[in-house]
Amino acid sequence: MTPPFQHSFADQLEGFYAQSSPALSKEPKLIYLNKTLTDELCLELGDDALLGLLSGNQLPKNTNSIAQAYAGHQFGQFNPQLGDGRALILGELEDKNGTLHDLCLKGSGRTPFSRGGDGKAALGPMLREVLIAEAMHALDIPTTRSLAVLTTGEDVYRQSIEPGAILARTAASHIRIGTFQFFAARGLNDKVKQLADYTIARHYTELSEITDPQEKYLDLLKLVCERQAKTIAKWMSVGFVHGVMNTDNMLISGETIDYGPCAFMDAYNPDTVFSSIDHAGRYAYKNQPSIAQWNLARFAECLIPIMSSETQQDTDSLIALVKHELTNFESFYQAEYLKIFSRKLGLDENINSEARKQLVDDWLQLLESQQADFTNAFRILSDAIDVTPTSLSNLFKESNALEEWLGRWRAQLKRSENNTRSIVDTMNNNNPWIIPRNHFVEEALQAAIDPKGSIDLSLFRELLDALENPFEQPNFKKYPYKEALTQPASASFNNGFMTFCGT
Ligand code: AMP
Ligand code: MG
Repeated sequence: MTPPFQHSFADQLEGFYAQSSPALSKEPKLIYLNKTLTDELCLELGDDALLGLLSGNQLPKNTNSIAQAYAGHQFGQFNPQLGDGRALILGELEDKNGTLHDLCLKGSGRTPFSRGGDGKAALGPMLREVLIAEAMHALDIPTTRSLAVLTTGEDVYRQSIEPGAILARTAASHIRIGTFQFFAARGLNDKVKQLADYTIARHYTELSEITDPQEKYLDLLKLVCERQAKTIAKWMSVGFVHGVMNTDNMLISGETIDYGPCAFMDAYNPDTVFSSIDHAGRYAYKNQPSIAQWNLARFAECLIPIMSSETQQDTDSLIALVKHELTNFESFYQAEYLKIFSRKLGLDENINSEARKQLVDDWLQLLESQQADFTNAFRILSDAIDVTPTSLSNLFKESNALEEWLGRWRAQLKRSENNTRSIVDTMNNNNPWIIPRNHFVEEALQAAIDPKGSIDLSLFRELLDALENPFEQPNFKKYPYKEALTQPASASFNNGFMTFCGT
């Protein structure tokens, strides 16, 4: 059966993209398929048809492959001309709940936006994206998804020669802050308005009925701010560092996109940066909320001209209104952050927010000063409600400070209306055992690609399987690999570990 592709973006937003065909792959092979996701998208195809679709070699007639135009602030510098240089969107598919998802091929060859690039992708980074994006999904963080990986049978030239690959990715949409900026920078305010209305119809339907343009676009800003705040608070709660929060890498839907230089931290250190090019630490762990706010200010700048042309309001008063929403981002984010971190500590709303905030802040300060592993300290804490297990104290260099904090924490837990069982459940449902730790991700990728060109995904699959179930306590006796996955890397690995963009 031909998949029932829709084309709301291509049909309604002419001029926002370039039609472009995928390069033919020499010898495409499907090496990874996310069966759960194909089921969710009702993508029922035979092997040959699936290969033809996902390699781009034999697209069904009802696809319409487009490269979207966008601009973006990259490390603070505006680039008015980016766009999909190595990705194509084939169309939209409805999931079982009736929500549309873009189906995109990444690494499918040059497009009119490729600039100097080859339009290709290497296998290692595409497999890495699968591991991280699917781990994010299992951690309940809004994200683009990985549907499939194919090898193309061709080499791509990076630092070394690598096997070429295509990643099939799905996303609620690929509308970025940078998509708005592309048209705003050219003074094409009608197009910005068209895009804002399309965004509302696709992602923020609750605003569709609003007729007053000022109210409508201000509310759009507010809701986009809220979704971003929720996503970033979730990143912070699992120690995720995105690494390249350029405005072209921030989706208006609130989903996380672009898994190039991202990584998870082991020991808690708010200054953590992994990206080889982020010398000033612009995108360090601790800066992510303020960078999100900075990016949202760029989004707001695109909306001001359409509000002023539709209403009689002068620009100064519109600026004051959007500033108000951007300030609200901060308080909304803080509230989300406290909500999530309170759950991680098992503290419910009966405990007043100041006391919770103090405990969260002090706990994090303790982790930082003792260089304790972020993920394990939170997870093992649920075993410390009555007595401190050695597995917890072993994570800390000095037990007095830990015991002092635990004493205050236990005193607050006594105020909870919940019994111990339900406190433990809340904590364990919010503190993963397993995250994609860098040394295990690297190990699985190295095992996957033999320098002679053969591919063995057995360790990759084992890791992915563990990452898909991060909260449940594994039976460590039966699955020693899962137990190993809870171990942070050695200091020497971490000191030398770096991630890369645009690979
Ligand atoms: P990214 O670092 O993945 O966010 O990419 C930034 C910009 O560079 C986007 O416009 C990409 O489409 C483009 N780009 C990245 N890699 C390539 C490539 N190999 N060929 C063409 N364009 C690329
Ligand atoms: Mg990008």
